[in-house]
Amino acid sequence: MDQDAWERLFETDGYAKYLASNRSGALRAMIQEAVLVAFSPDRHAEADSLLRLTPDVNDYQALMSKNFCELAARQEDAVRFLTETDFPALLDRANRLVKEHLPRRVSFGKVPLNDLHLICTIPDASVRDHSVLLDLNLAMDMTEDEIVRMLAHEFFHNYREMAVPHWLTDPFWKIFNSFEDEGCADLIDKGDHPETMYARVGASFEALFLDEYQNASRTLQKLDSLLVIYRADPVEGSYAPVDDLLLFNGHPTGYHMTRLIREAGLEGELIQVFDRPACFAELYNKAAAWKNARGGDEYVLSEEMLDYLYAVEE
Ligand SMILES: [Zn+2]
Repeated sequence: MDQDAWERLFETDGYAKYLASNRSGALRAMIQEAVLVAFSPDRHAEADSLLRLTPDVNDYQALMSKNFCELAARQEDAVRFLTETDFPALLDRANRLVKEHLPRRVSFGKVPLNDLHLICTIPDASVRDHSVLLDLNLAMDMTEDEIVRMLAHEFFHNYREMAVPHWLTDPFWKIFNSFEDEGCADLIDKGDHPETMYARVGASFEALFLDEYQNASRTLQKLDSLLVIYRADPVEGSYAPVDDLLLFNGHPTGYHMTRLIREAGLEGELIQVFDRPACFAELYNKAAAWKNARGGDEYVLSEEMLDYLYAVEE
């Protein structure tokens, strides 16, 4: 492929959105390498060994190259999948599903088809610039119901992003914001074993997720301890000790919190405070107290943390 051909690929709507980040230079180089290994006849042996590999979680290039090789091996299926799937219908179903997880005060637009881009990256979906970017190779392995739930998960982020006071930069508020964002979205598409989706990227990844998920109490307790230190000596902007507790973008801790809230019968309240991390933390405490009264061992956040989060939101 010459330089013009690469540029045309990267200027397609999906890749343009995918690459509109500060890592775009590195991502472009990784995509180019992945395309070359997957489609160059003289690199067959390399592609074959990639297909047998379980890449390490941090090896983004291997994750991406393997994904491209898998897709290259089933190009005809991919074309059939793209022509035979009724994407507007799936988007419509997802938009109806996400409404069940949002309060009525949220205004819903109709979802146009250009809100979904199927590109090849790593096995993942994400939201950029109000569009869902879904990995084609991943999508082909999913049932239509799974795609609908995954789209609804991403739409949730989309609608929430428009409602949440995103200009707040406090590190504690931001981490609870991530817990709420991913935790609520995970209620839509993750079942009893959220770690299984990470098995695809490797056993070490799955174990790390599971550890973080099962030890949400430990993470929340650390945040309480950090707040005491931070308030004695606050810093401007980001605060590394808090940022380090945000693993998997907040999925494991957040999902533990929202599942507990649901178990305590408080999902209706959760939906109402979907854009208020301070209220979310308080609701979690209510659920933890409920669980502990029934023999549970859930960490209850300090009053100081709740007051602090409310003060940030004021
Ligand atoms: Zn998400």
